[in-house]
Amino acid sequence: MENDASVPKQRTMVQAKVWILRKHFDGFPKDSDFELKEEQLPEPKDGEILLEAVFLSVDPYMRPFSRVRMKEGDVMIGTQVAKVLQSKNPAFPEGAHVVSRAGWRSHTLSDGSGVQLLLSDWPNDVSLSLALGAIGMPGLTALYGLEEVCQLRAGETLLVNAAAGAVGTVVGQIAKLKGCRVVGSAGSDAKVAYLKELGFDVAFNYKTVPSLEQALKQAAPEGYDCFFENVGGAFSNAAIPLMRPLGRIAVCGAISTYNDTSPQTGPFPHLTMIMNQLRMEGFMVGRWENKNPESLRRLLAWRKEGKLKTPEHVTNGFENMPKAFMGMLRGENLGKAIIKA
Ligand code: NDP
Repeated sequence: MENDASVPKQRTMVQAKVWILRKHFDGFPKDSDFELKEEQLPEPKDGEILLEAVFLSVDPYMRPFSRVRMKEGDVMIGTQVAKVLQSKNPAFPEGAHVVSRAGWRSHTLSDGSGVQLLLSDWPNDVSLSLALGAIGMPGLTALYGLEEVCQLRAGETLLVNAAAGAVGTVVGQIAKLKGCRVVGSAGSDAKVAYLKELGFDVAFNYKTVPSLEQALKQAAPEGYDCFFENVGGAFSNAAIPLMRPLGRIAVCGAISTYNDTSPQTGPFPHLTMIMNQLRMEGFMVGRWENKNPESLRRLLAWRKEGKLKTPEHVTNGFENMPKAFMGMLRGENLGKAIIKA
């Protein structure tokens, strides 16, 4: 019977590992908020593809978005670089690499929505993981925040916080390429040393300076034309009064507030904003999606020319995703936090 051609071939089942949000985060996330489950995935049907995660991303947005976009029991949201293992969709050939919004999953059956092929001319000597970092969403965030929101001009002084992270490292380097003076803050001396290597004019450890206000004033006695805001809270309170007239603030993130259980309050910036005629604009990277192909090529070109350094903090093992996520929120990463599956 075993060799009987009339017996239909047994369908190959793939075992997927999946990280679930077991409990909504209350304050800083903890291990027990996550649960690792296994799922059996059938073979792809017509139009479907089977993906295997190669690199996965942990990003700050997952913390606030978990509240508004997820319910308990959902797969953790997120993006990954994946390989197409099997394909019944001609747009995604087997063996191709894609960026997929599949969430925290080792394997995914997909109809192709939320899946994008990597740039066709991705160089062999550039890690595919950069498609989740400097040549991906965080790099685009840096570019659009500077060009579209700040409208940064040569000769201006820019401040960026969380400067040694995925977005911050790209912000500082692009601002230098544009001929600006760049001040950055980060949470360890090793990060500060790295920012100086990247060409930041001034970098300081916001955790150890005696006074944040003094450190910011000393770094730019004439004040700041642009502020690329990643942190919010007390940092924001210290920085906004140091903006120059007609200064621009790109509100990209507020990571110092993401784990708050009750909202932080004032001082309120209105009078400073009025007197100095400041512009403060929140933005989401997706607003300029139509520009992404051209923008990714610009980022890749800078990388190829050696003008854009792309540090990464790689954690090995899909099982370690919660650890990598919480580590990133604590500041363990220099550059983009990545998980190698
Ligand atoms: P990072 O790689 O910068 O990692 C997060 C970093 O934040 C940590 O390494 C840590 O560095 C810093 N941090 C954590 N807690 C605090 C705190 N209390 N005060 C100051 N710094 C803190 O992450 P990303 O580059 O991916 O993201 C940076 C910011 O950009 C985030 O706020 C994120 O939400 C935002 N973002 C917004 C997007 C948009 O479309 N608007 C898109 C992508 C990101 P340190 O050691 O320096 O403390």
